[in-house]
Amino acid sequence: MAFRFCSLASGSSGNCQYIETEKVRILIDAGMSGKKIQQALELIEVDPKTINYILVTHEHSDHTKGVGILSRRFNLPIYANTNTWESMKKDIGKVKEENILTFKTEEHFEIADLGIEPFGIYHDAIEPVGYCIHYKNSKISLLTDTGCVDENIKKKIGNSDLLLIESNHNIEMVKTGRYPWPLKKRILGDLGHLSNEAAGEIISDVYTDDMKVVLLAHLSQENNFPELAYTTVSNIITESGIDLQKDVKLDMTYRHKPSKVYTL
Ligand SMILES: [Zn+2]
Ligand SMILES: [Zn+2]
Repeated sequence: MAFRFCSLASGSSGNCQYIETEKVRILIDAGMSGKKIQQALELIEVDPKTINYILVTHEHSDHTKGVGILSRRFNLPIYANTNTWESMKKDIGKVKEENILTFKTEEHFEIADLGIEPFGIYHDAIEPVGYCIHYKNSKISLLTDTGCVDENIKKKIGNSDLLLIESNHNIEMVKTGRYPWPLKKRILGDLGHLSNEAAGEIISDVYTDDMKVVLLAHLSQENNFPELAYTTVSNIITESGIDLQKDVKLDMTYRHKPSKVYTL
């Protein structure tokens, strides 16, 4: 069997990604209510009781809202770095000591047959990470909630079979929108979120023949819409010489429903 991947939900209303292999089933973030996550899993015919671990990217509630609930309900161990644990502990409620697992950012670790590589990103959280998940010869990379990328991040997400990348906003919509200036500054800043344009440029930059699927994620409800994100990103990557008909599949994730299920 191969890797299976599904984005159960993505956006500021909640993030939760699902990865499965022969031996293990994990969630990356659990940023909705326990009930919503269970419903999303059932939609893709996964029994919530069969989940083995939750990995957390950072402490913001759109990534952690359901973490404690699911851990208590299904006795699930949770992985996060120590700083993230410190800052999310008060919000997620009581978790069994044995279910508190830690890793070091930039250090590889293993969960069953998965290789996990957490890498540092740029966001207004204590120690936010993106993840590369390895299984056999395949690799899935998850990069959201970062205001910018550096060479280390590009190196990490290179050679991915599936890349989930943030395409949060249209810069003009943020500038002319109704958000107060401090919030606009936060979104557009180096510790905020990636724009559609930035996503397009990063994908073009890191594209290799290995890349089969690119998913656009964490779209803003206020400052973006799916057609705009898709068109902007596809124009930029097509201009860089990538053929969306045959080189790579560009797809969307959704705020309130699961994406397609991808087998790699
Ligand atoms: Zn977020
Ligand atoms: Zn965040």
